Amino acid sequence: MTKTIAILPGDGIGPEIIAEAIKVLEILKKSFGLKVQLEQGLIGGAAIDATGHPLPAETLKLAKESDAVLLGSVGGPKWEPLNIAIRPEKGLLGLRSELKLFANLRPALLFPELVNASTLKPEIVEGLDILIVRELTGGIYFGQPRGIRILDNGERQSFNTLVYRESEIERIARVAFESAEKRQKRLCSVDKANVLEATEFWREIVTQVGKDYPNVQLSHMYVDNAAMQLVRAPKQFDVMVTTNMFGDILSDLASQLTGSIGMLPSASLDANNKGMYEPIHGSAPDIAGQNIANPLATILSLAMLLRYSLNQLELATTIENAVSQVLRDGLRTPDIQEEGQKAVTTQEMGDAVVTALQQA
Ligand code: NAD
Repeated sequence: MTKTIAILPGDGIGPEIIAEAIKVLEILKKSFGLKVQLEQGLIGGAAIDATGHPLPAETLKLAKESDAVLLGSVGGPKWEPLNIAIRPEKGLLGLRSELKLFANLRPALLFPELVNASTLKPEIVEGLDILIVRELTGGIYFGQPRGIRILDNGERQSFNTLVYRESEIERIARVAFESAEKRQKRLCSVDKANVLEATEFWREIVTQVGKDYPNVQLSHMYVDNAAMQLVRAPKQFDVMVTTNMFGDILSDLASQLTGSIGMLPSASLDANNKGMYEPIHGSAPDIAGQNIANPLATILSLAMLLRYSLNQLELATTIENAVSQVLRDGLRTPDIQEEGQKAVTTQEMGDAVVTALQQA
């Protein structure tokens, strides 16, 4: 059956990197028998310019009706003076909450060819392959009440609320255990159970869910230690699962272990594995329009889309192998370029992946 992918290029380098992912999709259709229909939509600043809203109703409808969403990136200085309620980023947050994408999967995988691109010593990061599973629609980022109030003595006080329902913890824990089952079967749940009751509860529920996954070795770690361990000895981790805010911080930290933000994909999934896939980086306004952005994070996001939402496991691996191949062949966009290496353009990198796929 033909599946539909909503393609939302967005702003800045978004359209350039998405164009390369589309090339890959076209070759998968032509030479690998993939049956997909691509439908483009507006999001972010591009949508504001065209319709006045960062998430137009047609885009939301398209995303809801599609089997998966592939997104470039949103935002840029042009839209920063706008009221926060209608900024480009609201389009992205709106999509995440409307599609109920509660599970954010961020692999931090170091391609062996890029071992020198990391700021950490090669022996610390060589072979690194971590998956961070972050809860995306709950916790302190969404908890009520929130705001700023005036106390009896007239002083202002700000507050946010860290809340998790048992069902919210259970469903993200299951995603993490199931991911671990397909990998090295080790799961580290990260919390601050020594200080925060809400995360003591998190630990209790994750432990309870773990009884259904006897093959997975579960451990728990406080978030401050986890941050330290990620830099000290990151290879001890296989899958990590954590709350919305801790995951936000730790996944950015982990991404940097691998050297370039231009290499890392992400998936945000709902309860039925429908998902939105996007590179972890932003719209990079400083390099937009120059044909120098690295399209590999977007192409690897497409591989995740095929794996998780279209169940095309072999094709996903084929794309990942093609990316490895072009790196082995020495192709480098400027962000991953080392001394003495010639840089290629965004389009040349995309073309090289297509060629590697044709030879696969
Ligand atoms: P950014 O990720 O856009 O850029 C950070 C740095 O990384 C820049 O120097 C940029 O040139 C470089 N970079 C990013 N992607 C690259 C790629 N594919 N190839 C080569 N280099 C790359 O972060 P920022 O500068 O903090 O944010 C810029 C805009 O993007 C802001 O408007 C921000 O709100 C938005 N943003 C959007 C998303 C998203 O769409 N998911 C995520 C983060 C930031």
